[in-house]
Amino acid sequence: MVLQVESKQNYEAKTQEIATQLIAATREKKSLFAQVRDQMRLDDKLMDWAMGNPGLRVQLFRFIDCLPALQSNAEIARHLQQYLGDESVELPSALKGILNFTDPDSPIAATAARTLKAAVETLARRYIAGETIQQAVKTLERLRKEKMAFTVDLLGEAVIAEAEAQAYLQRYLDLLAELSREAEKWSPVAEIDSADGETLPKVQVSVKLTAFYSQFDSLDPEGSRTQVCDRLRGLLRRAQALGASVHFDMEQYTYKNLTLDILKNLLLEPEFCDRTDVGITLQAYLRDAYQDLEGIVTWAKQRGKPVTVRLVKGAYWDQETIKSLQNHWSQPVFNDKAATDANFERMTQLLLETTASLRRHR
Ligand SMILES: Cc1cc2nc3c(=O)[nH]c(=O)nc-3n(C[C@H](O)[C@H](O)[C@H](O)COP(=O)(O)OP(=O)(O)OC[C@H]3O[C@@H](n4cnc5c(N)ncnc54)[C@H](O)[C@@H]3O)c2cc1C
Repeated sequence: MVLQVESKQNYEAKTQEIATQLIAATREKKSLFAQVRDQMRLDDKLMDWAMGNPGLRVQLFRFIDCLPALQSNAEIARHLQQYLGDESVELPSALKGILNFTDPDSPIAATAARTLKAAVETLARRYIAGETIQQAVKTLERLRKEKMAFTVDLLGEAVIAEAEAQAYLQRYLDLLAELSREAEKWSPVAEIDSADGETLPKVQVSVKLTAFYSQFDSLDPEGSRTQVCDRLRGLLRRAQALGASVHFDMEQYTYKNLTLDILKNLLLEPEFCDRTDVGITLQAYLRDAYQDLEGIVTWAKQRGKPVTVRLVKGAYWDQETIKSLQNHWSQPVFNDKAATDANFERMTQLLLETTASLRRHR
């Protein structure tokens, strides 16, 4: 969809208009049966409840964390009651009904355990394309059929030893090779494989800088830069040879300046200064994100070749908030959601105005 906006005042009206059209278009395609089925999906409900209730969110994620280790329905049922029965949790009445059993070995408890386990697994599958590359390929092909582009992120990136960092790089190199081999069989989809008359890479991976060096630390910028760049150069070379693109995620605030600094310098090296198949992420929930975007615009203009900017709101809001409160630091993130949303819109405006130097993430 092409967004043509004449003036700032028109943003809100146009946004509302497009959103209404999109909602109507999705609704039209659904049969009555599909709508009813969707309304009943417990995994959707779990997510909604968790988002609307911080106490439930914490306990639900604690439960999900230990779920793979639980061996029987009775164990699951017992943990469910212990986690979700906590007084900090305001349970929605539907969940209260499910948890209303006294004996974890009873048939009712077994049904509760099975139901919640299935809902959690469905929820996880929505965010995990597959446990193997072959499984992921099936998901990606399905997305492409629906004219949706993808980026693949490998889970398990909390790297604490160098052997793990090396293995992480190797897993990405293997992933790139296998996805690119599969991509040769994919017929082009105009809506996602080209933009502004240019062909876009069909394969994109997203990577986290901290996973390329076990001791990545902003207190050791030079050590971190040397180790990380060494691995990133290999990854960028391989991606280029395979015609894939690489997108760099943004992680916790403590890594932000070093991440931007490493990427800006790496992409100015003679070997990489022409690369346009690379992306950087900015998080709109950060108070200094707009300033960082201005910095990237200036850098990209000097570089003379565009990179992609993926604008997200940010995934570590709870962590950033709790950590800065604990340490009596000023908070890097906005405290209310509307401020993040407003910053997101402001940054979108700047991105729209600088398309010659930067690409917005599709
Ligand atoms: C392809 C892809 C790549 C991504 N890469 C990254 C990445 O590299 N780094 C990263 O951090 N995230 C990344 N994300 C996650 C992204 O940040 C979240 O998905 C996004 O914030 C959720 O936005 P939304 O518009 O869906 O949700 P909305 O519901 O509109 O917004 C939720 C967001 O608002 C913000 N927020 C919530 N409460 C408050 C509050 N009280 N005050 C201020 N702000 C608040 C938070 O950022 C929260 O995530 C990625 C997501 C996708 C799909």
